[in-house]
Amino acid sequence: QPAVDFRDVHYSIGDTPILKGVTGSFPDGKITTVVGPSGAGKSTLLKLCNGLISPDRGTIFIQETPIDRISPIRLRQIVGIALQDAPMIEGTVADNLAVPRKLKGEDLTAEEAETALADVGLLRDFLNRNSQELSGGQRQKVSIARTLVNRPDILLLDEITSSLDRTSQREIEELIRAINRKFGVTIIWITHNLDQALRIGDYTWVMMDGEVAESGEHVLEYPAAQRVQQFLKGGRA
Ligand code: ADP
Ligand code: MG
Ligand code: MG
Repeated sequence: QPAVDFRDVHYSIGDTPILKGVTGSFPDGKITTVVGPSGAGKSTLLKLCNGLISPDRGTIFIQETPIDRISPIRLRQIVGIALQDAPMIEGTVADNLAVPRKLKGEDLTAEEAETALADVGLLRDFLNRNSQELSGGQRQKVSIARTLVNRPDILLLDEITSSLDRTSQREIEELIRAINRKFGVTIIWITHNLDQALRIGDYTWVMMDGEVAESGEHVLEYPAAQRVQQFLKGGRA
């Protein structure tokens, strides 16, 4: 059964339709990448998945339960999210890793913090590093480690490599693949980069103007990939 299932989901801001009837599912334990031009509604899709916003019409199922029947605390446990700018609180890396626990009124032990860092390939020396002094790649790794503290079943990634150099991009890609394999976490990964989407996605969704223009494994194959290129250039092929 799918980890996340959208059924005719509509979402508007004021009179402006942002999502116009999105239907489709994200397979359990797989990596699905989401591509599409800026403004297509990709980030809106993720905000709906973690309950930050709610649909006007239609239903989102998380592990077969309608999302509005899952408590916010439970939802935060199941669904993790990492963003492009990897926002950090002031303080050390350890302070940042503890945030998901603090939200539940709990502490993170030193051992758990080390494990979280190990999950993203960082050594324990990083625990005492100032979060404001990390490189872009390190910052993104800490952000991912922080989402793993809750052991989510579903991980939402919004353009997490967009501001990184090529080497760090590839490193993060490998890291997410490893996390997907090791924990069986379902990954929904928005990216601007079609090559990246095709490289890392078991499945790919192409979004256009608030709709799913194309989806599936088949978009990986020529000539579908070429069609996707056309979409991203702005014209329907
Ligand atoms: P994407 O992530 O694909 O670039 P978004 O989901 O961020 O697209 O946005 C989809 C559309 O919704 C865009 O046209 C954007 O301008 C609009 N939008 C998003 N958030 C807001 C907001 N808070 N107020 C008004 N319009 C918004
Ligand atoms: Mg955008
Ligand atoms: Mg976006």
